[in-house]
Amino acid sequence: MRVNEKRIYALNDISNIGNPDSCGGPVLYWMSREHRVQDNWGLIHARMLAGDSRPLVVVFVMSPSFMCATFRQCDFMLKGLEEVAGGLSKLGIPFVLRVGSPAAELVKFANEIGASVVVTDFNPLKMEQSWQRAAAGALHIPLMEVDGRNIVPARFVSDKHEYSARTIRLKIHRLLFEFLEEFPKITPMNISPPDVDPPDWNGAYRAINVDRSILPVETDPGEIAASIALQFFIKNKLKNYAEKRNDPNAEATSRLSAYFNFGQLAPQRAALDVHGTGGGEGQDAFLEELIVRRELSENFCFYNPDYASLNGAPNWAVKTLDEHRADPRQYVYTREEFEQGRTHSLLWNAAQNQMRRTGYMHGYMRMYWAKKILEWSPSPEDALKTAIILNDRYQLDGRSPNGYVGALWSIAGLHDRAWKGRPVYGTVRYMNERGCRRKFNVNEYISRWS
Ligand code: FAD
Repeated sequence: MRVNEKRIYALNDISNIGNPDSCGGPVLYWMSREHRVQDNWGLIHARMLAGDSRPLVVVFVMSPSFMCATFRQCDFMLKGLEEVAGGLSKLGIPFVLRVGSPAAELVKFANEIGASVVVTDFNPLKMEQSWQRAAAGALHIPLMEVDGRNIVPARFVSDKHEYSARTIRLKIHRLLFEFLEEFPKITPMNISPPDVDPPDWNGAYRAINVDRSILPVETDPGEIAASIALQFFIKNKLKNYAEKRNDPNAEATSRLSAYFNFGQLAPQRAALDVHGTGGGEGQDAFLEELIVRRELSENFCFYNPDYASLNGAPNWAVKTLDEHRADPRQYVYTREEFEQGRTHSLLWNAAQNQMRRTGYMHGYMRMYWAKKILEWSPSPEDALKTAIILNDRYQLDGRSPNGYVGALWSIAGLHDRAWKGRPVYGTVRYMNERGCRRKFNVNEYISRWS
């Protein structure tokens, strides 16, 4: 049950004092990003460290108000965690839910149970990294991170911000044979767990301090639902994926992004199962998005702390957007008008409605949607802010590296190149409704979502 050591990274240097082999306290897995029992390298590593001689405890610390999150996302997350708690309990592993400041609560809990070592998840985003740094500094035992999100671990695949999909693709493909391996199963514990409080789910629901007007959507949360969605995609949609994935009416994409975002499904599980279908265009196209594009986003956010601002955009794009800053805009909308879907464009409003109602917008429409926000906002800075705020507020897959990269790609040329110059956009790639009409039945999309 070994985890490739290239997935593991020491977040503090306390390995001598709290040597896991010489200290008998429980192993603590601080679940933060990977909310699943199976196919979870962090949990597998924690289980391996516990072995037969130390108990294993899983703790999740919920921050009551979290960066633009709404009740929709919190509900999806808590229901998923409830399922995790049930799955862990069958393996003799207690799940503890704490509410509060993540680093402080984690350290408090680790001290309470006399933990000997803490294992946690890799996360490229700034807030989560600051929690990890604070915990690493306050703990007197080792804190180690395991990358359970990237097939080729982000710290290992590259030590710098990769310029484009082309540059990271080569690196990923060279290493896939080593990392795209089957997961071992988590085996049940045969040692009694320490006495800990059971999770208070109702208390957690009461504690969350977010906008409760954005309601849950129909997508079923959790590891089981994620696995069903993956198998449904493989059986029914994968064969059409290459041809139809850019048609928002076709329902040809996987709809797995919310499960990946909440760690309810390992991208590596999806890659293994899709890989196992035996080839074809659909498989290649899907693995390109799932592995190369997604891991490029992780790379960008990890190495560029300006991932949510124009400072993160390439120089050529910042320059061209600046040169066109004063260009007259045919339409300018406020954030509220965008949010309510009150623009002149029925197509844009339909995309906004799809996101508001379902917590998901089709990938092709996301590009069009963000580019029009650039065209109809007073400045590129405003546009980026609006796109990120709305994306994070309504999408179940929001507040993720893919979201920040998607917004910067659309509005500020990230991972793209310069195209023919135009008003407002400069040489940032342009999209219009006519282009959409060439690709798919725009009227059908509008009538479905207006
Ligand atoms: P599929 O086509 O089935 O793809 C499978 C998986 O591959 C996705 O779940 C995702 O993990 C990954 N993937 C697909 N397309 C991309 C891409 N372009 N870049 C990186 N990874 C990709 N994705 C998010 O996960 N969260 C977001 O908040 C998000 N916001 C976006 C905002 C904008 C403005 C743009 C242009 C793109 C955004 N994307 C985001 C990327 C992409 O649109 C979604 O990942 C995809 O639409 C999710 O649907 P799916 O799971 O059916 O995708």
